[in-house]
Amino acid sequence: MAKLAASSKCFKCGKPAAISLNYMQQDLCQSHFTEMFESRVKRTAREYRMLRKGEKIAVALSGGKDSCVMLHMLHGISKSLPIKLFAITIDEGIAGYRCRTLHVAKRECRMLKVPLKVISFHKEFGKTLDSLLKKKGVERSCSFCGVMRRYLLNKFARKMKADKIAIGHNSDDVAQTVMMNLMRNEPERLGRFGPLSGAIEDELFITRIKPLFLTPERDIAAYAIMKGIEIEFSECPYARHAFRQYVREMLNKAEEKYPATKLRIVRAFLAQQKLMQDGVRMRRGKEKILRCKSCGEPCSREVCSLCTMLERS
Ligand code: SF4
Ligand code: ZN
Repeated sequence: MAKLAASSKCFKCGKPAAISLNYMQQDLCQSHFTEMFESRVKRTAREYRMLRKGEKIAVALSGGKDSCVMLHMLHGISKSLPIKLFAITIDEGIAGYRCRTLHVAKRECRMLKVPLKVISFHKEFGKTLDSLLKKKGVERSCSFCGVMRRYLLNKFARKMKADKIAIGHNSDDVAQTVMMNLMRNEPERLGRFGPLSGAIEDELFITRIKPLFLTPERDIAAYAIMKGIEIEFSECPYARHAFRQYVREMLNKAEEKYPATKLRIVRAFLAQQKLMQDGVRMRRGKEKILRCKSCGEPCSREVCSLCTMLERS
């Protein structure tokens, strides 16, 4: 949660501040904070042309704070820009965790009158993440989970004729992803990463948009609390095994000592991104999108990563 700043004054109006934003060197009152928060998300969506009139948006809703706040923001935007929203929640089958966030996802969708589709690993793959990891080990839990979730999100968003999938990645997630790819020496993966990503020119892959790309995680938690959006703070039991967790802690320490470190990483990445995306686009022009021999989903090899991972071919 962002640090409260009860003794200081709002940078904009001089009223008592509700929050200190170290990365901006500003203290803000509640109303100026929420105003700044909303206009930043809308500006990000505008700048990267994420939303167009008449589009159908599949909101990837985990039921955690990021996706819930994103759902509320998109719902607010849909009042002035006619877009159709529906939500997809993936139930990976993580005992004691997913059922809690699933409950939040259902409640928020009911409240905002947004249709919700719940898709489970068990039904789609015949196994839960828990049972899969018993065989494969927990060390690569997030890699398995991530590939399987992306697969299902794309498949069902396409089935339900969505134009785009909205993902609740915040700027902390982005800084972590950039660092992880650098630390693993996999910079080419960043070519496909960004506020708006996906093979726009290919209908099999649904474009992914990230309206919270430039919004820090702590701001999202603070916004949810100020707006009375009930959020679920429980953490996935597998998260602690992930490399991401190590990078998260490392960046949090750096941020404490050198405020704005995470946003500087994001900005530095964005500055490089256009060049990288141009390169990827050129390569994609030459690459062919194939259908996986095993499951029929789009991929760039004979057998997609999911089927390779699950040894289904
Ligand atoms: Fe899946 Fe990892 Fe997220 Fe847990 S922390 S839901 S295993 S990606
Ligand atoms: Zn103010």
